[in-house]
Amino acid sequence: MDNISRTPRTSLKRLPERGSFDREQINAILDEGFICHVGFVVDGQPFVIPTGYARVDDRLVIHGSQASRMLRSLARGIDVCVTVTLVDGLVLARSAFHHSMNYRSVLIFGKATLIENREEKIAALRALTEHMIPGRWDDARKPNERELQLTTVLALELDEASAKIRTGPPLDDEEDYALPVWAGVIPLRLVAGQPVADPRFPRDILPPGYASDYERTARKR
Ligand SMILES: Cc1cc2nc3c(=O)[nH]c(=O)nc-3n(C[C@H](O)[C@H](O)[C@H](O)COP(=O)(O)OP(=O)(O)OC[C@H]3O[C@@H](n4cnc5c(N)ncnc54)[C@H](O)[C@@H]3O)c2cc1C
Repeated sequence: MDNISRTPRTSLKRLPERGSFDREQINAILDEGFICHVGFVVDGQPFVIPTGYARVDDRLVIHGSQASRMLRSLARGIDVCVTVTLVDGLVLARSAFHHSMNYRSVLIFGKATLIENREEKIAALRALTEHMIPGRWDDARKPNERELQLTTVLALELDEASAKIRTGPPLDDEEDYALPVWAGVIPLRLVAGQPVADPRFPRDILPPGYASDYERTARKR
């Protein structure tokens, strides 16, 4: 088992048995999600910005406009904390106190670096597209030089990261198990609807399989 080294910042204090430093498990969570929340501080002001991401080997990549404050700030090498959360279910306990959620989440600390090398930047952009919709990159027009210039791509090494996972039924106080209150789990998952064609797209062409059969699962392992 390939473990990511535990650091004082990533050592779980609350319910540490739910923690994991297993790289495979962390990668699987990152590969299933596609939205992360990026936390950073500028001039004493904390920001938490939602954004798309992809994992490329042992790095997380994010991208956006050159004008983005988030990306410009991170490119300066400031400390960043990124989280990814997958919600698997609502946990209904007999007591209000013990209600919970089943989830898989990852938290990463580090400093992002700018991807400047052209080939590496295109590979990261490809990964971002493929992570969201596998199979899409080959069909889409590739970024031109101007688009490449206008896009900032950053990488964050996955070398200080932890996962936390809750699974299973509610954990009630022993005396509450006798209560006639329904208890259990409402499973939740992300489900794709029917693709809706752009009104400017010819109506007689069917959507590609990756759009009509879209499903969110961990794809790289
Ligand atoms: C699901 C999702 C995916 C996204 N993917 C990307 C991506 O891949 N690349 C990318 O560059 N951006 C993405 N965004 C947009 C991103 O959240 C930021 O709005 C954007 O990056 C601009 O960042 P900024 O620091 O320049 O914001 P600024 O415009 O400098 O922010 C100024 C203020 O605007 C408000 N604000 C900014 N963003 C948001 C927000 N998302 N929601 C509510 N208020 C906001 C806040 O009050 C913030 O302090 C995504 C957003 C969502 C919700």
